Amino acid sequence: MQNRSYRGRLAPSPTGFLHPGHLATFLKAASRSRERQGTLLYRMEDLDGARCRLQYDEACLEDLRPFMNWQEGPDIGGPFGPYRQSERLKSGIYHKYWKILRDKGFIYPSPHSRKEIRSHLRDGEDLDTGDILFPQELRRPAADALAFSDPGNTAFRFRVEPQTIEFTDLNLGCVTFQAGQDFGDFLIWSNQGYPSYEFAVVVDDYLMEITEVVRGQDLLLSTARQLLIYRALGWSPPDFYHCSLLRTGDGQRLSKRRGSCTLRSLQERGWTVPALKEACQGSQPNSALIEAISGDF
Ligand code: GLU
Repeated sequence: MQNRSYRGRLAPSPTGFLHPGHLATFLKAASRSRERQGTLLYRMEDLDGARCRLQYDEACLEDLRPFMNWQEGPDIGGPFGPYRQSERLKSGIYHKYWKILRDKGFIYPSPHSRKEIRSHLRDGEDLDTGDILFPQELRRPAADALAFSDPGNTAFRFRVEPQTIEFTDLNLGCVTFQAGQDFGDFLIWSNQGYPSYEFAVVVDDYLMEITEVVRGQDLLLSTARQLLIYRALGWSPPDFYHCSLLRTGDGQRLSKRRGSCTLRSLQERGWTVPALKEACQGSQPNSALIEAISGDF
């Protein structure tokens, strides 16, 4: 990737207000892009209609603006738009690459109900946390996908063959996963009629010519899955930099779903933009910030 000019991205999902963990990752993405005289784009990952809200879409943009600049995005446009995945869906790009995966035999329809999947789980597996290996008994032949001219509202899964996946992370060094053990067949298309996160992000990072993905370490396993999609489509992947996660004093990750304290609530409690920036971009956890985010838990 060295001979291409650097293109990085910020890719928030507007499912809640941003918290300092997001800010830390985005500040890292912005500084890596700046240091390399690169282009940073902002892509709104708003495919999940049940969880995404316009209110958060606007708030994400507003909350990040004082901290960094991006050169392309939903608010300013650019040559690789649209910059909202919901609009990209309408343009048909995900359908186009879904068809390629179908024709190459990488995916199969998976119209299984949660009840059906649950009845095949092994001890300790929990469908609600997503901590499962998709049951092999439910796997269908890839040829079944050929009966579909369009994914519509049918779920499709990627067939994961047992193999070692190894990549060099620019922060962590060599990372290895065992496909088939660490993760199983995963969703490419949801029964709500849109691509899964794994699939959309690969198509978008490829089409937007992203050269480096900076994201949190909670997405390491997702990166391994995405590498299989890159391979299936015959694309070379970008470089990856996985940031360590900001944790509360008792080691918990911040999460939008758990209502951890947000950039907004910290600012209401007196944290200024420079103070938050300083606290989130240091190499060591900032004790005042840890205390602030732990109290609110
Ligand atoms: N939209 C994803 C999220 O907010 C992150 C996407 C990515 O970095 O690939 O968790």
